[in-house]
Amino acid sequence: MFKSTQIVIEEAIQSLGYPEETYELLKEPMRMFTVRIPVRMDDGNIKIFTGYRSQHNDAVGPTKGGVRFHPEVNEKEVKALSMWMSLKCGITDLPYGGGKGGIICDPREMSFRELEGLSRGYVRAISQVVGPTKDIPAPDVFTNSQIMAWMMDEYSRIREFDSPGFITGKPVVLGGSHGRETATASGVTICIEEAARKRGIQLEGAHVVIQGFGNAGSFLAKFMHESGAKIVGISDAQGAIYNSDGLDIEYLLDRRDSFGTVTNLFKNTITNEELLEKECDILVPAAITNQITMQNAKNIKASIVVEAANGPTTLEATKILTKRGVLLVPDVLASSGGVTVSYFEWVQNNQGYYWTEEEVATKMRKVIVDAFDKVHSASQKHQVDMRLAAYIVGVRRMAEAARFRGWV
Ligand code: GLU
Repeated sequence: MFKSTQIVIEEAIQSLGYPEETYELLKEPMRMFTVRIPVRMDDGNIKIFTGYRSQHNDAVGPTKGGVRFHPEVNEKEVKALSMWMSLKCGITDLPYGGGKGGIICDPREMSFRELEGLSRGYVRAISQVVGPTKDIPAPDVFTNSQIMAWMMDEYSRIREFDSPGFITGKPVVLGGSHGRETATASGVTICIEEAARKRGIQLEGAHVVIQGFGNAGSFLAKFMHESGAKIVGISDAQGAIYNSDGLDIEYLLDRRDSFGTVTNLFKNTITNEELLEKECDILVPAAITNQITMQNAKNIKASIVVEAANGPTTLEATKILTKRGVLLVPDVLASSGGVTVSYFEWVQNNQGYYWTEEEVATKMRKVIVDAFDKVHSASQKHQVDMRLAAYIVGVRRMAEAARFRGWV
């Protein structure tokens, strides 16, 4: 994942004609922190957790990106994720570079009190290197607005003043933005609409498979269902369900737990791998990395694949899908709705003046539609797939900013 990110960044820099030093600068994060976080667990013992924060590049502005709580978090993954954040911010023209954090833990097995201790401990460990004008965290896999609230409170206590702009994805009552919770799914929905338009596919009645039923997947299912599309398959970490007549989305949304698990209620489940190869028009991987690979890319039936997760398709699979004429909307474009509304949240915090849900939705639509158009035009102009096109668009601003600053 990290290596393939470097490969595409290098290709993008070459096709833009920037000098080799630009790639040398951007191929690794500028700063990477590893921290150890002691937490007193409910059984009275102290457990030491490992956390990371990667700051890819701050030539354009402060770094920005989520914090994930997951047992498989590792240094390389956090690095790659921070590079993708740089690209997302570049594509959507936000005044940020990319950052990302993660803690190795399983929040599904931790109590509320333990999670609070871990969240506060992480902020204490990184408080020197983050802040509203340095590096601004946000939610990611298995973190939510409650965790953002604890982190904001801890940071404000350390600084001894209220600092809502230190973190985004907060509850609305603490300076969160309307529309932030559903932002990733809204951004994906807009990308699906744009991609369908390019392909002449009618969304009304189109068959959609969504892999993953977490924050992005579940809201996306809701939005697509409301727009008249037929959701024929969904999945969670345990398995998947498929029905070509359409699933009862309202029931599924009602029954999912806070980690997006719902398939355990069904007897006739299939695997995640099987779901990806099922008949559909639009496939949305909204779960984890490396799901569409060299092995299954040739069996994907969808004509549009929109990556709501970070890194669900390998580079080899991207090539196979493109060759087969599948329109692939890459993660760095499709999942940029979250950081876009995070930016709006930060702006509102900085100015202390808050926008309505409609204002946020209108501003966001414009950002995502413009981003889609830019990437699509770049893919036509350079005759490359949408992933490389997205990297070309995303990397340009960083390269320019670093040049103006006299860094390379
Ligand atoms: N974690 C989200 C992402 O991967 C959102 C980041 C943010 O809001 O800063 O894009």
